[in-house]
Amino acid sequence: MAATPHRSLAPIALVTGGNRGIGFEIAKQLADRGLRVVIGARDLEKGEAAAKALAGDGRTIEAVALDVTDEHSIARACAEIERQHGALDILVNNAGILIDGPGGFSSSLLDMTAETARRTWETNVLGPARMMQAVLPGMTARGYGRVVNLSSRAGQLAEMGMGFPAYRMSKAALNALTKLSAAEAGTGNIKINAMCPGWCRTDMGGAEAPRQASDGAKTAVWLAMLPGDGPSGKFFHDQREVAW
Ligand code: NAP
Repeated sequence: MAATPHRSLAPIALVTGGNRGIGFEIAKQLADRGLRVVIGARDLEKGEAAAKALAGDGRTIEAVALDVTDEHSIARACAEIERQHGALDILVNNAGILIDGPGGFSSSLLDMTAETARRTWETNVLGPARMMQAVLPGMTARGYGRVVNLSSRAGQLAEMGMGFPAYRMSKAALNALTKLSAAEAGTGNIKINAMCPGWCRTDMGGAEAPRQASDGAKTAVWLAMLPGDGPSGKFFHDQREVAW
């Protein structure tokens, strides 16, 4: 378990969009490692149903209403977590959308609407940015924090191809956000990293995807529990550093 210098209770982790897909698996795996986990869900009923489905087997897991596009929702969720559980140790920025179309991997920039780009940016970039603005001051004050950004190799500049233009741009921007926030956090015990879960069978990934969500979750869990000498400001896939 990650060592948290500020208290003896198990670390507390928030997983945004944890009610289904890869986020649900991240929540499960973190709880299985003894962490106290809060599932952030924009529909609280779905969040509570997910927490209930995961309850038992020694897991400590709850839900909070959280829409990452709404700063008031973020403030309320963070205050609620602080009141119920104390200061947040780990933030997993998992919530994301992929609404490009038509054409999937061959979807063209020429078909991208500004509305698609704006909505994607709101959730996939400003969402994690707002979440970090909410939690990093507390982490900095306590001298401990882990932030994991669910990015994608679709946003990898080194390998950039065509298709899903709004999504690709948003994940490239999320990678930039990871690097700049890690630079700002410095070399102490706050670790901010991005990772790609691989192509996973979820509502977003579709039925054809080769990986299970539980496999996609593993690198996020590893990054969430990094030791004090672990990396920061890097991009990972299957626990290996990859190019931006
Ligand atoms: P998913 O099955 O579509 O689930 C997305 C989750 O994000 C849902 O819980 C959804 O909540 C939540 N969400 C969306 N907008 C939100 C908002 N404004 N506020 C709070 N929650 C919101 O997606 P996934 O496949 O699990 O993907 C999880 C992450 O991994 C995403 O960031 C995605 O880009 C990344 N990723 C996925 C793949 C893949 O192959 N699946 C590959 C690379 C990267 P609702 O249930 O309310 O809609």
